[in-house]
Amino acid sequence: MSACMCGCGRTADRKHHVVYRDKLSRVASDDAGRGGRQIPPYKALIKDRRNLLKVASSCERAHHAGSVVYPLSCLPDSVFEFAAEVLGPTAFAYLRGRYSGEDSRLEALTDGCLQQTHPSSCVVT
Ligand SMILES: [Zn+2]
Repeated sequence: MSACMCGCGRTADRKHHVVYRDKLSRVASDDAGRGGRQIPPYKALIKDRRNLLKVASSCERAHHAGSVVYPLSCLPDSVFEFAAEVLGPTAFAYLRGRYSGEDSRLEALTDGCLQQTHPSSCVVT
């Protein structure tokens, strides 16, 4: 048995969807929201292991309730790749809004747009 990825020390008995299931459902069903990008159907998205984080169920409940916020640093590299692929330019804001701290892997998703002098070209929703 592996330990919860957040570092709380409990046994991981669940897989947390880093990009939440409701978000995956919306992206999969919304052609406009995808900006024309091709992504797999919802059933495939929720099974994509790149988006799964092994956690303790009590810990995951607390995360969704907002009393525990997982730090970006505990997310595997694969999550950033998955989020960029599925959420496109909104991946940065999505992860930023739900996970805490700073992470260079997240900064990389912006393609340097935070450094641009015209931030209106950034898609941050
Ligand atoms: Zn935990």
